[in-house]
Amino acid sequence: MAKKQFKAESRRLLELMINSIYTNKEIFLRELISNASDALDKRYYEGLTDSSRNVAKKDLWIRIERDNENRRLIIEDTGIGMTESELEKNLGTIAKSGSAEFRDALEKATEKIDIIGQFGVGFYSAFMVAKKISVLSRAAGSEEAYEWVSTGEDGYTVSKAEKAETGTRITLDLKDDTEDEKYSEYLEEWTIRNLIKKYSDYVRYPIRMNVTKSIPDPTDDKKMIDTVEEETLNSMIPLWKKKRNSISDEDYNEFYKAKFSDWENPLKVIHYNVEGNISYTALLYIPSKTPFNFYNTDYESGIQLYSKGVFILDQAKDLLPECYRFVKGLVDSDDLNLNISREILQQDRQVKALAKSIDKKITRTLEEMLEKERENYEKFFENFGLNLKYSIYRSYGADKDKLQDLLLYRSSLEGKYVTLKEYTDRMKEDQKEIYYACGSSIEDIEKLPVLAKVRSKGYEILYFTDAVDEFVIRMMMNYAEKPFRSITEADLDLGSEEEKKAREAAAEENKDLLTAMKEALGSNVSEVRISGRLSDDPVCIVADQGMSIEMEKVLSQDPMNKGLKATKILEINPNHPIFTKLKAVFAENPDAIRDYADVLYDQALLIEGLPIEDPAAYARKITELLVASGMPEKKESE
Ligand code: ADP
Repeated sequence: MAKKQFKAESRRLLELMINSIYTNKEIFLRELISNASDALDKRYYEGLTDSSRNVAKKDLWIRIERDNENRRLIIEDTGIGMTESELEKNLGTIAKSGSAEFRDALEKATEKIDIIGQFGVGFYSAFMVAKKISVLSRAAGSEEAYEWVSTGEDGYTVSKAEKAETGTRITLDLKDDTEDEKYSEYLEEWTIRNLIKKYSDYVRYPIRMNVTKSIPDPTDDKKMIDTVEEETLNSMIPLWKKKRNSISDEDYNEFYKAKFSDWENPLKVIHYNVEGNISYTALLYIPSKTPFNFYNTDYESGIQLYSKGVFILDQAKDLLPECYRFVKGLVDSDDLNLNISREILQQDRQVKALAKSIDKKITRTLEEMLEKERENYEKFFENFGLNLKYSIYRSYGADKDKLQDLLLYRSSLEGKYVTLKEYTDRMKEDQKEIYYACGSSIEDIEKLPVLAKVRSKGYEILYFTDAVDEFVIRMMMNYAEKPFRSITEADLDLGSEEEKKAREAAAEENKDLLTAMKEALGSNVSEVRISGRLSDDPVCIVADQGMSIEMEKVLSQDPMNKGLKATKILEINPNHPIFTKLKAVFAENPDAIRDYADVLYDQALLIEGLPIEDPAAYARKITELLVASGMPEKKESE
């Protein structure tokens, strides 16, 4: 029979699995049982919605067989099964192969990177313990069965086979034991027993296995004899139905990892019960890491929906607001119609009430975390804060009231995270606005020429390092009635009356110089003026009304927006030696001012992190000025 080849990524992944030195190989069983449980869910649900497919609960089970003689472990289920083409499609390609991140991680993967843990690779994990895998399956509603067989990298075959019952039977031919790895332990009763307890106890279908039991010998009651009996290994009680005080942290964590294919423990568990208009139990989790594809379109959000303990939908999107789409988990409600489908979910009144209640609970939980578990909250924010910001922006500010107090910013005061409330609570009495500065990093912002001045006045400045930050506050407009104000905005006036007067006098006195510089720079700037906001730097660029400098940077990355620019003003520090020099040059030779204007303008752009139009011309002018300048005075050495 002709062997078919795995898709490229699948082959790479298989290679990793087969040669894995991953220490947690036992998770393969969890993955296979979880697939079996999903298949049973699907079959049961199908029976509920299509009476011709009705199936009795007692006929839904998982069985584990241990064949010591042939070193085989068999996992069988009576779930939905797979057709010939589903076997090809589901097992010939890995589900995640479409995502760029996954492919990237695979490319870079060495044994050290835990791709297994990072991505939860499902079925293929069985290749960590098996040298050959056979999947014999008969799909619900079909008389035919097919068998998929593979020994790993060299491809797989699919052929017609016989199977009496609907469902899937997976046979693993275990690898040979080595010094370090005893694969035969997976044939031992207690190993399997423990693994099922640890990872799959909550599965709502019986996981059965033949076990050996000692019973009194019926012919001689002083003796014990061994008999083999079938036993159900799992308690089958869904974790979320258990009492909270009977659940350990480890139970919660293991359940989360098994069910939602995460590698790390969750950051926060939210388990609660609501009785009222709509009654439900929810078990929700906030992951401790941003999922690898969280900001991609292929990230699927949503929580699982159960009705009276029966699985209904896998990723019910409408149950989670967009701003909390990082939450994983499930809800189980007694008040929902079992026949609810993805399509009518959106319109269902009960579902809407459910979604609203979940939304509120998550908000409250985050508020509490912020208040009582600051460190944990900051971890959360580092992973998902960006999503909160985007939500305010995308909702045109509609989510503002809900989310504004959940935002954190770094600030100039302590370098620590601060909330807007903390900021406004400690604002100086005379401060009427919330000051912020934009940049791609804290270091960049701290280099901004205007920062030192605002800081020296004792004002705290919020650091906006995410591209979306400034767009967010445009949506928010203000916080606690205090408007937001960029420290690089044109009309920010921090000086005292005297300073202002001195500046006006200097402007008047040097009117011709400033006008000549403005003329030299043409439409690049709307004005050249004396600055009141600079301490040590010679010049800076500030934005006039409308678009800010930072927005120009963000928009310049959008191909649709090329050419949109902020209106800029060049400000000169009157206390800097360069100003004296400019005056002298202008007095001697007014035309020479052009090169100085160009160079200073480019310099101001560079400090802001904006590109300059003609780097070659800039370099040439700098060199000319260097050559023209006199010898530097020798500095006194200490
Ligand atoms: P995932 O479970 O994350 O989708 P897997 O690689 O574990 O990825 O499985 C791929 C697909 O194969 C599943 O989505 C499912 O459609 C199918 N599958 C796996 N095991 C079974 C099974 N026991 N019964 C029916 N279908 C299965």
